[in-house]
Amino acid sequence: MPMTPEQQAEIDALRSNPQPTLRAVAEGMEKHLYTAYDVLDHGFIRVIDYMGDDAAICQAARVSYGKGTKSVQNDEGLIRYLMRHWHSTPFEMCEIKLHVKLPVFVARQWIRHRTANVNEYSARYSILDREFYIPQAEQLAAQSVINNQGRGEALTGEEAARVLEYLKGDAARCYDHYEEMISQDDQQGLARELARMNLPANIYTQWYWKVDLHNLFHFLRLRADAHAQYEIRVYAEEICKVVADWVPAAYGAFEDYRMGGATLSSKAIDCVRRMLKGEEVTQETSGMSKGEWREFEGIIG
Ligand SMILES: Cc1cc2nc3c(=O)[nH]c(=O)nc-3n(C[C@H](O)[C@H](O)[C@H](O)COP(=O)(O)OP(=O)(O)OC[C@H]3O[C@@H](n4cnc5c(N)ncnc54)[C@H](O)[C@@H]3O)c2cc1C
Repeated sequence: MPMTPEQQAEIDALRSNPQPTLRAVAEGMEKHLYTAYDVLDHGFIRVIDYMGDDAAICQAARVSYGKGTKSVQNDEGLIRYLMRHWHSTPFEMCEIKLHVKLPVFVARQWIRHRTANVNEYSARYSILDREFYIPQAEQLAAQSVINNQGRGEALTGEEAARVLEYLKGDAARCYDHYEEMISQDDQQGLARELARMNLPANIYTQWYWKVDLHNLFHFLRLRADAHAQYEIRVYAEEICKVVADWVPAAYGAFEDYRMGGATLSSKAIDCVRRMLKGEEVTQETSGMSKGEWREFEGIIG
């Protein structure tokens, strides 16, 4: 169950009580406020609050000139210029606060992004719900033989059934023991802060995560990338949809220069120049390692 009835009631109450404001409002973001988007089998993201819009980025960039916002056309050009030249601080003027429900092993990857503010559900004070991430059949993949950090073909038949059985059975057994250990019936229950160590990493946790747009783009570039683990990538992809509506010009520049763009080393640029002059450049004559050359070929197609 992604949302509890209490959480849904809280959202409904907030939605039924709109507040007039003098603050900048991003039209595209208003529809996302408080709306929970399901991710994985029990997870979600929802926007709790936000500050700023595309205009706020331009306003900050132009502050030294004392000019207000200009036409959308100019704003878009300025935002693209800022993104292209890694002029990052104006993007920090926008912030977003998300409520995220995610498996603990995904949270471990997510928390490595240190430039955010986090408040997590406390398993010292509260009892974790019996909710575990169990992958869909197509995500139940074998270890990749070419990439130590990747997946190969999906498991099938008996192999897939056995793995699913382990995942479900082990999670259920661990949770049964967790519940038994914290049981208050005989007043001898183990402290929640200790009992939780018996829970597997696919149990769900929740947190509030606040981050500015510059650091959010950094997170999205790494985690919405095809090389990121599927289970964190689906969260990043859901956030991308929200950001595209919140700051369309900034998101467009991000897609163009960061997600769709590439960085070339001086050796790679030299190879491109030689190729343009008609020279047949190979890995051996490129000066690049095999890995670099493979990535370079991936970029230039
Ligand atoms: C595909 C992939 C595989 C990964 N594999 C591993 C792995 O095997 N093992 C592992 O441990 N991690 C791994 N990571 C995590 C990775 O190394 C980073 O910790 C994570 O992506 C967060 O990036 P960040 O530090 O740039 O982000 P943030 O913490 O948000 O920092 C953003 C930027 O702020 C600056 N900054 C923040 N804090 C400091 C600081 N204290 N000092 C100096 N500069 C700072 C840096 O410029 C940094 O790039 C992996 C990440 C990805 C995307």
